[in-house]
Amino acid sequence: MTKQPITVAYGDGIGPEIMDATLRIIQAAGAAIETEVIEIGEKVYLGGNSAGIAPEAWESLRRTKVFLKAPITTPQGGGFKSLNVTTRKVLGLYANVRPCISYHPYVKTKHPIMDVVIVRENEEDLYAGIEHQQTDEVVQCLKIMSKPGSEKIVRYAFEYARAYGRKKVTCFTKDNIMKMTDGMFHKMFDEVGKEYPDIEQEHWIIDIGAAKLADTPEIFDVIVMPNLYGDILSDVAAQITGSVGLAGSANIGETCAMFEAIHGSAPRRAGQNLANPSGLLLGAVQMLVHIGQADVAEKVHNAWLKTLEDGVHTYDIFKEGTSVEKVGTREFADAVIARLGQKPASLPAADYSQAKSATFNIKVTPTVPAKKELVGVDVFLHYADRDANKLGELVKNFKAGNMELSMITNRGVKVWPNGFPETFCTDHWRLRYKSETYQPSSYSDVIQLLTAIHQAGFDIIKTENLVTMNGEAMFSAGQGQ
Ligand code: NAD
Repeated sequence: MTKQPITVAYGDGIGPEIMDATLRIIQAAGAAIETEVIEIGEKVYLGGNSAGIAPEAWESLRRTKVFLKAPITTPQGGGFKSLNVTTRKVLGLYANVRPCISYHPYVKTKHPIMDVVIVRENEEDLYAGIEHQQTDEVVQCLKIMSKPGSEKIVRYAFEYARAYGRKKVTCFTKDNIMKMTDGMFHKMFDEVGKEYPDIEQEHWIIDIGAAKLADTPEIFDVIVMPNLYGDILSDVAAQITGSVGLAGSANIGETCAMFEAIHGSAPRRAGQNLANPSGLLLGAVQMLVHIGQADVAEKVHNAWLKTLEDGVHTYDIFKEGTSVEKVGTREFADAVIARLGQKPASLPAADYSQAKSATFNIKVTPTVPAKKELVGVDVFLHYADRDANKLGELVKNFKAGNMELSMITNRGVKVWPNGFPETFCTDHWRLRYKSETYQPSSYSDVIQLLTAIHQAGFDIIKTENLVTMNGEAMFSAGQGQ
């Protein structure tokens, strides 16, 4: 069998130990792989590369298209971009698949019946990483979500459910508050869902959905959600199965894929032969299926299940009474290797005989451009005086095109006209100039308006155009408006 080249990164913290254990196990099981090792992470960051990855490493990734990655440490502080997020986005790895399963009664868990797959959108949302300090008091982070991005991940979740014989897909959003961003995700879920009538589907607002997931995970099957919620809830889900160290993760794109553990580099546990390599190992199992070595994946998975059943446990899942032997990372790997060829006696055995690569052929509905008209502009000011009425008096007479001042907000709350003195104001203000009846203006009108505001001595920090699309307003109202 020709060996499949894969790119490997040993990562930081516990990374080298769990990668060594993982590679030893899959190679002992007969994985036909040729590893190309790249250096990424802390050392590269601290060596002056703020992206944490060298150009040669990108070349390897783009050549092999398969990446097995141990966790890395993103140094705290300014300038260092998360390499995990960069890799996912640069390689277009839009779907993050995180199975969270409990192994009762062999691993102690509050939830004996739990088999949930979290499908996390992987490229968009608050992870666009576009943040700015705008005034002395206010910073912002942009939550960017796209229609094709939402459609792709929702479609992926349904395709995944079908391919893996799962019965239900649940969507979590916060669209009662974020009506445009999360609202679009929910709408896509409803629209795309119509094409999958064989699969049960439901939507939960994320807050109660998260509470239910922590309390009664057995009611969920596949859950699809935007990036940030998926990041947080997959840690919660993995932890309540017994340990965050138990879950693996596949990051799937159209041409490339990356496989990892869901947890981080746990620096406090590094170098002590303590960490549980199971998360990365299960990521590697997903990788073996992806590269067409499902038989090896099955062998590894079953030997691992048997090891758990035999009570050979690392510290994070070791419990007196349930576990038999407390082992370190290396000994755990040896125990799995010793069981290659065996199947679990009572836990359901892994069966990958029907398994296909999880790169589904995901189509995206082409975008039909709408009739877009500029009807106003939100002008954001840095203005230190906290008096909304005074500001209103100073800016209410600026006009251009069909635009005139309709309201002022502070942190999204309407404070002029007729604001409440109780509303706390910062130095960050938004002036909304628009036509009440959505009569169009031109961008030259906006520039004229901005010029007048600027010449009057105001500190403009940014603007957002207000548009209608096919006659419908495409911007949110002010709170209290
Ligand atoms: P973490 O997941 O690294 O660790 C949290 C705690 O979980 C640890 O203290 C440990 O008690 C436990 N734990 C995690 N993995 C374990 C394992 N395999 N075996 C046993 N116990 C385990 O989270 P953190 O401490 O918030 O983050 C540490 C660093 O990891 C940060 O620099 C962060 O940026 C990075 N990180 C990287 C990734 C990634 O590379 N994909 C993901 C998350 C966090």
